Amino acid sequence: MDRIKDTEYINLTPYINNSTKILHKHKTCGYEWLVRPKNILRGEGCPACAHSNSKFIYFIRFNEFNIYKIGITNNINIRLSSFGSKPSVLKIKELNSGKDALKLEQKILNEFKEYKYNSGLLKSGNTETLLNPPVDSILNMLK
Ligand SMILES: [Zn+2]
Repeated sequence: MDRIKDTEYINLTPYINNSTKILHKHKTCGYEWLVRPKNILRGEGCPACAHSNSKFIYFIRFNEFNIYKIGITNNINIRLSSFGSKPSVLKIKELNSGKDALKLEQKILNEFKEYKYNSGLLKSGNTETLLNPPVDSILNMLK
């Protein structure tokens, strides 16, 4: 299969193969993101729509493990108590929409991707954790 027909998604960059990420756009909301075609075919939906109520972006530190985490949520208190380790909150910012929060989260994770580090130590959310990141630069992006 070289293209995806009759779906809510358009691929914006040329198809390479089923497992190489290409830029897709969700027709309904306009969000664009890199995803493997096989994940779309498998029914993986638009992340912006999945997080449409997740307007809060948080930047936290787990002192116990010496790692930092960026994430988005619709309920800060529930999210912060879900990691199995109590974090220190460095910054919480409320955006206008879940899409805006997701865009900012992805921008920060992309900008600081060399610091990404999966410790496997948290109960959830291990893929958006950072080791020794430039904290002030990240806080600047969350102003
Ligand atoms: Zn969407």
